[in-house]
Amino acid sequence: MSVLKEYLRTSNHHAIPISNDQRRTYDARKADKNICFCLKCMRCHETIKKKSNTLERTEYYLNFPSLGKPRKTCPRCRS
Ligand SMILES: [Zn+2]
Repeated sequence: MSVLKEYLRTSNHHAIPISNDQRRTYDARKADKNICFCLKCMRCHETIKKKSNTLERTEYYLNFPSLGKPRKTCPRCRS
């Protein structure tokens, strides 16, 4: 089974690029973890906090896939 051994050795050799891809996927998920879906205006929104000041602003994402996003009323609909 030298072919299989060679395959496994080659696979292990490529372990680093695969783990880099996984990290990119994780970062992409982390980036939109604050995005919620408002059931009142039917839009996805994200509250962005700036480190330099305490002001918060809400970004709205039109036509953003709401699948799996937590349902949370946006600040505009709450006020
Ligand atoms: Zn809303």
